[in-house]
Amino acid sequence: MEDIQVIGVRGLPLIHAGDDIAALICDKVKVGQGDILCVASTIWSKAKGYTRNLAEIIPSERAVRLGKMNGEDPRFVQSVLDASTDIIMEHPFILSEMSFGHIGVRAGVDQSNIEDGMVIFLPPDPMKAADELRADIKTVSDKDVGVIITDTCGRSFRRGQTGNAIGWSGFPAIRDYRGDTDLFGHVLKITEEAVADEIAGFANFVMGESNNGVPAVIFRNCGRWTGHDNLYFRGDEDITKRVLKKEWTS
Ligand code: GDP
Ligand code: MN
Ligand code: MN
Repeated sequence: MEDIQVIGVRGLPLIHAGDDIAALICDKVKVGQGDILCVASTIWSKAKGYTRNLAEIIPSERAVRLGKMNGEDPRFVQSVLDASTDIIMEHPFILSEMSFGHIGVRAGVDQSNIEDGMVIFLPPDPMKAADELRADIKTVSDKDVGVIITDTCGRSFRRGQTGNAIGWSGFPAIRDYRGDTDLFGHVLKITEEAVADEIAGFANFVMGESNNGVPAVIFRNCGRWTGHDNLYFRGDEDITKRVLKKEWTS
């Protein structure tokens, strides 16, 4: 198998509502059959208009209370509450769940890489976004690619943010090793590798966080794997969520 190639897509413009992300990317690079294309959620959201002007947001009582508690603009807090279906922690920052199953700090609402006074939401249905972008790439280039919509996320237990896959299309997010044998013939019982997150993590490294201007990264020769798409814990599977919720909400 050939070595994996990683190609940052340079020279893309600032993205605005209505822009055609697939066309813009294919204009800058030649995508190949079987490539995996990672795109920062931030540009997908800007292209689709999942943004808001803080000046137009009227904060609720809860947003005012949490804003005071966390030292944040209550209108920003309101945008976070609006993007959330369940609040896991209120303080020292809001940690919440979104309708598509992702749990993130401040619901992944960003105030960076957009004009002053604006906020960017995560795409409301990132799986659908990945499907759509994949179909768009097929239309523009006639190539079948995999797609990952990424976001920079915090994590438990370790300092520092990493890139996560919040939506994906064209391959299973998790490579299931259960039933495989290791080098010594032991049967693996537990290992499910979150491949989509691993690729998103490296894509995030290539993108950077500030003014790099590289919101898309192509991975070539990643091979194929089998597994499943249950990347998000469901209900009572999530021990951390259960404990945090009990401790940190009022
Ligand atoms: P997030 O991780 O999805 O929240 O996105 P970031 O704000 O961290 O941006 C990821 C990468 O995309 C960085 O290299 C940014 O400079 C770049 N980026 C963000 N918005 C744009 C844009 O509108 N156009 C271009 N060309 N790059 C952008
Ligand atoms: Mn983000
Ligand atoms: Mn980022």
